[in-house]
Amino acid sequence: STSPLLPAANPPAWLGVMGGGQLGRMFAQAAQSMGYQVAVLEPSDACPAGQVAQRLVNAGYDDAAGLDALAAQCLAVTTEFENVPADSLSRLAKHVFVAPDAHGVSVAQDRIAEKRFFVDCAPKSGVLPAPHMVIATQDDIDAIGDDLLPGILKTVRMGYDGKGQFRVRTRDDVRAAFAEMGEVTCLLEKMLPLAYEVSVLTARGVDGQSVVYPIAENVHRDGVLFTTTVPGPNVSDDCAARAQRAAQAMVAELGYVGVLCIEFFVLEDGSLVVNEMAPRPHNSGHYTMDACVTSQFAQQVRAMARLPLGDVRQHSPAVMLNILGDAWFAGDSDVAIEPAWDHILALPGACLHLYGKDDPRRGRKMGHLTLVASTLAQAQQRLRDACLILG
Ligand code: ADP
Ligand code: MG
Repeated sequence: STSPLLPAANPPAWLGVMGGGQLGRMFAQAAQSMGYQVAVLEPSDACPAGQVAQRLVNAGYDDAAGLDALAAQCLAVTTEFENVPADSLSRLAKHVFVAPDAHGVSVAQDRIAEKRFFVDCAPKSGVLPAPHMVIATQDDIDAIGDDLLPGILKTVRMGYDGKGQFRVRTRDDVRAAFAEMGEVTCLLEKMLPLAYEVSVLTARGVDGQSVVYPIAENVHRDGVLFTTTVPGPNVSDDCAARAQRAAQAMVAELGYVGVLCIEFFVLEDGSLVVNEMAPRPHNSGHYTMDACVTSQFAQQVRAMARLPLGDVRQHSPAVMLNILGDAWFAGDSDVAIEPAWDHILALPGACLHLYGKDDPRRGRKMGHLTLVASTLAQAQQRLRDACLILG
């Protein structure tokens, strides 16, 4: 169904999205501003995307009737949630153009398939993943070589924002963590000495043309993305070129259509290691909404609608700060407060995005703030100001 001969889906056609989270919401808003109508398939009825879409198909991600309703209404369907069952995308693809397709999504949602893909692609991409092995049984734990420890044990499926991960120093730590996770199949990765982390956002069209956004430098806290800075203060031109080349080789190899984000580690010796990929717009690409000619969400619309891809040029240095539910609590206490949006919005270059979630919980992504300025130093100063205001 990825025939480039299929005509473009022009507005006001219906576009569908699997998943109703904040990524689906921002996708819907971008599509609607281009004149499209949006249908969201999502099992929970109160969801960020459902608040803005013209239609919410309230059904499970594997519900046949729900999938058929989405396929019947839409000219193209995408996903905002990487754990949507690949079979559901295949079912949709019998009736409607689906981008990304089941293949790309199934590789990205399984850490074993993903690592295998990175290794197979290395001759073309020039980068390898961290040394790793599959842990499926107690015998596997006995066979762990000393060179993989200390390491990180990660569940193969459904991990995100550092969830489903344990740092391990010894084989006994691995045994305890494996038991803690209910002995589901895991991947043990060697703990690498990271200098910093970067991500590369790319988009590829049905015609095989691809675009790459400027490389983003990411800081995580407690496994959750904290800030994204573009241009990255640590990123050399050489590192950016290598990561961008690698990303383009990977999307070409996958025959991918749509937006894809690849996370890399840069080690202390300057070498580049590929970590994981997300088959959708990504948190580290939110800065594109306010700092680039074409946002990652508008780009996804163009790719799935089989229209020309948009200009990825960045017009302002930018820093993106995730706003977690913690901002709704005073310090470390349980005392509920209202974040000082008036002070935040008084910062020059502040672009506020809230996702319409009504119950703030610590660690929950509630929104993000992008600070754009004419210099990176200015954007970084405003980030420090914003952090003080949000506590
Ligand atoms: P998630 O799906 O939760 O984003 P990641 O594999 O990206 O999982 O891991 C989350 C974070 O943990 C990374 O951004 C990085 O900071 C750290 N991390 C993951 N793997 C390694 C590793 N092999 N060596 C060092 N740090 C790692
Ligand atoms: Mg990650």
